[in-house]
Amino acid sequence: MSAVSVLFTVARRILAGIIVLGTLLAPQEIVNATGLSRQFNIQAQNACETEMLREMGAREVFSGKAYEVLTEVAQAYGRAIPHIYIFPGSLNMGYIAGSTAADGRGKIVVGQQAIELFDAFSLKGFLGHEMAHLVSDGAAQGCNDYILRDPQMEVDADALAARTLGRRPVQAFLERVLALTDGQNWDAKHRLEVLQ
Ligand SMILES: [Zn+2]
Repeated sequence: MSAVSVLFTVARRILAGIIVLGTLLAPQEIVNATGLSRQFNIQAQNACETEMLREMGAREVFSGKAYEVLTEVAQAYGRAIPHIYIFPGSLNMGYIAGSTAADGRGKIVVGQQAIELFDAFSLKGFLGHEMAHLVSDGAAQGCNDYILRDPQMEVDADALAARTLGRRPVQAFLERVLALTDGQNWDAKHRLEVLQ
């Protein structure tokens, strides 16, 4: 997925779905509650993040497979390790838009099933993709913004992850998504082609 998130209902719907691959973050069209542009507001961001994580039933972890893989990924990017939260169900993962501006490290949320169904190598590609969103996030949008997915941003995140980690883990990630969806994920198929 891509990331960021957004109205809780939207976030929940997307996160609950079958691998949307990053759907939460990518900005393309943004509408906030008032329809007006607004300055990045840290207080509002923090409140939104807290509420969203609570609604998702997400808990922060400091060890385990996903934490270890993310540590490796963050080192490759030369960045601090983002906060990582696990939430029940879901094969999906995402990053919270604007979270890096709020806490200096950023926040990534990972579905429990993604940890179980992706081996460490493909998980590295998946987390590398989310990390690419985080490092590219200029906080033009925050947690409260409704963000539609932009396919080009997904391709760009794959490319940045491939440049940083090597192409193979990213390829393994997309191939695993295809395998888990019986080859029906058009988005993953397309991204795999672009990555070649
Ligand atoms: Zn993505």
